[in-house]
Amino acid sequence: MNAPIHIIGGGLAGSEAAWQAARGGLDVVLHEMRPARMTPAHAGQGLAELVCSNSFRSDDAENNAVGLLHEEMRRADSLIMRAADAHKLPAGGALAVDRHGFSAAVQRVLEEHPRVEIRREEITGLPPEDWQSTIIATGPLTSPALADAVRVLTGEDALAFFDAIAPIVHRESIAFDVAWFQSRYDKKGPGGGDADYINCPLDQDQYCAFVAAVREGQMAEFHDWEKDTPYFEGCLPIEVMAERGVETLRFGPMKPVGLNDPRTGRRPYALVQLRQDNALATLWNMVGFQTKLKHGEQIRIFRTIPGLENAQFARLGGIHRNTFLNSPRLLDDRLRLKARPSLRFAGQITGVEGYVESAAIGLLAGRFAVAERVGEAFTPPPQTTALGALLNHITRGADARTFQPMNINFGLFPDLPEGNARGRDRKKLVSQRALADLDQWLGSARIAAE
Ligand SMILES: Cc1cc2nc3c(=O)[nH]c(=O)nc-3n(C[C@H](O)[C@H](O)[C@H](O)COP(=O)(O)OP(=O)(O)OC[C@H]3O[C@@H](n4cnc5c(N)ncnc54)[C@H](O)[C@@H]3O)c2cc1C
Repeated sequence: MNAPIHIIGGGLAGSEAAWQAARGGLDVVLHEMRPARMTPAHAGQGLAELVCSNSFRSDDAENNAVGLLHEEMRRADSLIMRAADAHKLPAGGALAVDRHGFSAAVQRVLEEHPRVEIRREEITGLPPEDWQSTIIATGPLTSPALADAVRVLTGEDALAFFDAIAPIVHRESIAFDVAWFQSRYDKKGPGGGDADYINCPLDQDQYCAFVAAVREGQMAEFHDWEKDTPYFEGCLPIEVMAERGVETLRFGPMKPVGLNDPRTGRRPYALVQLRQDNALATLWNMVGFQTKLKHGEQIRIFRTIPGLENAQFARLGGIHRNTFLNSPRLLDDRLRLKARPSLRFAGQITGVEGYVESAAIGLLAGRFAVAERVGEAFTPPPQTTALGALLNHITRGADARTFQPMNINFGLFPDLPEGNARGRDRKKLVSQRALADLDQWLGSARIAAE
């Protein structure tokens, strides 16, 4: 139990991981580079600084997946949740916090903890061999020197510096009297069948109206330091393609070749394809639909696509500066780098998205590190819990070839055994099952530690 665990990055994930490791009996050295070196988004030197909004989103543990994640983290004695609850502000059903009070509270607990040492320094390369256990939690704006070292270790294409997210739709909200399953030219893919895609057809009028709406849609702004985003020709935003000409999308992601609408027996004028996004087949991403359109605009415009009139989006499209790993390929189910298991990753760099999700993965990384050190047979949380569903998605459930950052949402949970509940009923039942399974998991972890 002597050698300390080193945690790089004192953001949402690193602070939570440090707390979980220390409360589990490990000595912790937390390395945070601010204020000596700042990121383009952080404004101060506090641990767990919220770089933008002060909201942890919905706090409804019965009907909302992020609210459920809050509750699970509270039950797992999360420092981030404790500080958020202590500094919450009136915000209806959301959990909004006083960002300064919140960050100061997290920092105070860690500074005063006898097992935690905080070092204000940038780690500029891979951890030295004598660090037996390390958690890298350096976030979406990991400093370039460390990012380069991680990139060399993991391979050129395994660490991204921008996300290019296409919207993801809940399958149950797609109208299958209009949409149909078919692969282009009925071609069998590797490991798949000849009907792997969901297709939504547009006639000429619908297509022209769609292109016009995209051209006129309001865009989200890039931050100043993101403005020189280098678009790759292979993944241009749909609005950039729409600007290039009316036909560009129809010869790009909306091309209809090799597909026949079963209702007409003919190739449609244009179409939108959706590809399976998780092993459960509950989530489907709109192929090639990365976009900077504002979220409200995406919902309005994408619901004009036949078959998607009532689409519920698990996440909307976006393009941001974001450093993240291809976790499904690189990490095991305890968040360790397969190629170097003394290195764990946590937070946004693992390909989750959001303050709460980042802290949740920090919580798991801290607990996994403790279990490993005390030699416990420690199982990950069940996939029926929000913690387990998120972990499973980034390490196993998501398709490594198209992996993009993900928020917690009900599409990541396995179906209920009874299978037939819908809408709010399903959410309530999934949440009840999650909390019961989480309590059992926490109980068994406690027994194993005794
Ligand atoms: C501009 C921007 C706005 C965002 N807005 C929101 C939002 O409104 N709501 C939301 O839910 N999510 C938002 N996110 C997404 C994300 O949830 C947050 O970035 C979140 O803070 C991620 O938590 P983290 O712990 O993984 O990283 P961070 O909280 O960023 O923590 C990483 C820490 O590591 C430090 N660090 C980096 N490199 C090194 C190094 N080499 N050595 C030592 N220390 C290092 C950094 O200084 C930082 O303190 C935003 C992201 C960005 C970039």
